[in-house]
Amino acid sequence: MTATGLLAAIADVGADRTRGGYSRHGFDRVELELREWFIAEARRRGLDVETDRNGNIWAWWGKPGPDAVITGSHLDSVPGGGAFDGPLGVVSALAAVDVLRAKGFVPRKPLAVVVFVEEEGGRFGVPCLGSRLITGAIDPDRARSLVDPDGISLADAIRAAGADPSTLGPDEEALTRIGCFVELHVEQGRGLTVPVGVASSILAHGRWRFTFTGEGNHAGATLMQDRRDPMVPAASLVLAARKAAVGGARATVGRIMPVPGGTNVIASEVNVWLDARAADDATTKSVVAEIQALARQAAAEEGCGVRVTQESYGDTVVFDEVLRDDLSTVLGGVPALPTGAGHDAGILASRVPTAMLFVRNPTGVSHAPEEYAEPDDCEAGVAALATTLEHLTS
Ligand SMILES: [Zn+2]
Repeated sequence: MTATGLLAAIADVGADRTRGGYSRHGFDRVELELREWFIAEARRRGLDVETDRNGNIWAWWGKPGPDAVITGSHLDSVPGGGAFDGPLGVVSALAAVDVLRAKGFVPRKPLAVVVFVEEEGGRFGVPCLGSRLITGAIDPDRARSLVDPDGISLADAIRAAGADPSTLGPDEEALTRIGCFVELHVEQGRGLTVPVGVASSILAHGRWRFTFTGEGNHAGATLMQDRRDPMVPAASLVLAARKAAVGGARATVGRIMPVPGGTNVIASEVNVWLDARAADDATTKSVVAEIQALARQAAAEEGCGVRVTQESYGDTVVFDEVLRDDLSTVLGGVPALPTGAGHDAGILASRVPTAMLFVRNPTGVSHAPEEYAEPDDCEAGVAALATTLEHLTS
């Protein structure tokens, strides 16, 4: 089956009528439906399916074992995300298995398609949750206590999905059998001018939560000079982010939550999430430090308090150069390009040889309903992944 044919099969699952695009989040009803769909597709291909202690699904072609070649991606999305970010890597993996089967290929090494859970952090705030848990990049106690916007903890969400949250955490057994991991993904900028490329690096990036506290009050009865309005320093933070991110750094405020959030109410508290990224660790940290200093100053001027929490962080990832060059050659000399987007592959790269294949994005739009990839490019991606898997498991 083609990648676009498989994507069409899930085109209605998690469609967000309010935001447009898709809202599919870890352990919610929609993501559970997608997981069931994936498991059925894997079984239909005779793959052996197992779910690990952290909720990631592995579909094995051949007996699970050491030196396995792993491919896959994620099925969750950002709120109102596109159809390709994540699912393209999963359906391309299934389609690549079909291609190899059809030509009678039998892998000499174990091969598996993996689906990582909650890659976007769209529900519990920490991106790449499944791969972070496996590799020990997040403390399991912290993970269990993460809460979604409705106040439901990850532990409760896992229990509601019929699984056991007490077994979350580093999984050496799962890691040691990975010989290498290759994630196919839609490219998320306009960096690729041919159908397929390979990844060279990922920017250092993280998420910070700023909680500004002031005095909730009446919007009409409270004179301007009597206010301690946390929305004012929150607004300063947005502008500080724009000012601090220079020379290729990126700083974004995409989410603000005032408490209580009423039109005629001065907020008592405003939570602002900052996403910051730059080429290296030092630049990223200094951009955040500058934004923090400006935010603290703005809070003090308004008589407000501010607390800053780092919710996630990942240093620059340089993908395995030998594997990258090998794949580029096997695929006929496709280009290597860096990306500003984070991926499970970036987390796994700290432990196993990891590579990524990118499929061209004609508009550079991603994390939005308009995200797109041409069907021909998607099939070029499947062909490239099939070639890659054949090469790596021969
Ligand atoms: Zn993704």
